[in-house]
Amino acid sequence: MSTTVLFNLPGASGHINPTVGLVSGLINRGERVIYYAGEDSRRQFEALGATFRTYAPFFEYQHSAAMATALLDGAFMMLGQAENALAGLVRVMEQDKPDYILYDSCCLFGKYVAQRLGVPGICLVTTIVSTPLLLTSDLPLAWQVAKELTVGVPRVFEAVRRIKDLLASVGLKYRGLLYHMFDVFANEGDLNIVFLSPSAQPFHQFLKKNYLLVGPSIPEGRDPPADLPIGLGSALPVIYVSLGTVHNLKQDFYRQCFKAFAELPCHVVMSVGKDTDIAALGPIPVNFTVRNRVPQLEVLKRTRVFVSHGGMNSINESLYFGVPLVMVPQQVEQGFNARRVEKLGAGRLLKSEKITVDSLREAVSQVLQDERYRQNAAQLGQQMQGLGGYARAVDEILRFVHGDVQPALRKTA
Ligand code: UDP
Repeated sequence: MSTTVLFNLPGASGHINPTVGLVSGLINRGERVIYYAGEDSRRQFEALGATFRTYAPFFEYQHSAAMATALLDGAFMMLGQAENALAGLVRVMEQDKPDYILYDSCCLFGKYVAQRLGVPGICLVTTIVSTPLLLTSDLPLAWQVAKELTVGVPRVFEAVRRIKDLLASVGLKYRGLLYHMFDVFANEGDLNIVFLSPSAQPFHQFLKKNYLLVGPSIPEGRDPPADLPIGLGSALPVIYVSLGTVHNLKQDFYRQCFKAFAELPCHVVMSVGKDTDIAALGPIPVNFTVRNRVPQLEVLKRTRVFVSHGGMNSINESLYFGVPLVMVPQQVEQGFNARRVEKLGAGRLLKSEKITVDSLREAVSQVLQDERYRQNAAQLGQQMQGLGGYARAVDEILRFVHGDVQPALRKTA
């Protein structure tokens, strides 16, 4: 048995959910897992048999729409967390003596803890892999990144100084502006487990060999059962609506859905997020079931079309079950994801600033009626299911850390 520590981003369901199957698989194979995230994840990971810790006293973090939207703010957030936690976590880890470190790509400190301890650092990626090449595949993304970086030039110098100080504080070497400028987003590990299928990642064939695309991580029984009378027993097609766990305080949008879908011969399941006051939404049409959170994987198994914000996990989970989407992106990465799905013919994109009751109804009706969306989604889902997901991730990680691995993959990034 070896010991691993997994560093994740507190409260970020989109980063935490894909690790559920992974942690359970590692524990089943005899590994000891120490899991770091926010208090709200404790019960779930302790139930799997992991030792659970929060980042107190190093930092407190609440995942929010602001942090998940602006690129540079996100990068500075990661840097700030690393400054607060790195030296302290290294001291704690010197006691725990992990054999390898797993870290979410947003946990910059995870990579440096591993390097300081001299053990393999394995990055877990639940979004698109950040590479410069990515920008050539999508003009709106390139434009947004260029805008943010131009405005943010003065902050780059501050970032460089802080990264140098951070690395020096634990005796690691600064590797130059270009390396760190990209790496702050990619956070490349010795091995990188990407929970995506190649269809989601433009130019995936040019990724370095230490990036493994294992497909979505979708374990049975991930979500606790919920009291959902959702008409799932009825023969009516189900429309599922969710803007995910972050950008979901959108009362006007939910009311537009009420108007758009009330008259359709469908049952609508709507997840509005834990902070939305359902009573304040006004009268709910009879064919709707509205909840603060639903067991999404279970709902998707019965869904005909998913009206989604285009978060990477929601898209993955939807296509995995062959469900086409209507996407209403709330930030730049979701726009990128949605354009990709539209190009692949498995859904339609509606610009959130231009949404009307009619455009919502029209898009959903089209995706419901045109079989091609369903066929394309089913085909992408089949490809995903063949990639192995969390079970393959477990195999690859154990192969990597226990020595049976090609030397090229072993070189430290
Ligand atoms: N989710 C869920 N129930 C809900 C809403 C969301 O289980 O009612 C899960 C969903 O299955 C996915 C994650 O929360 O795994 C959302 O991740 P995504 O990347 O789609 O969006 P984010 O919440 O990060 O914006």
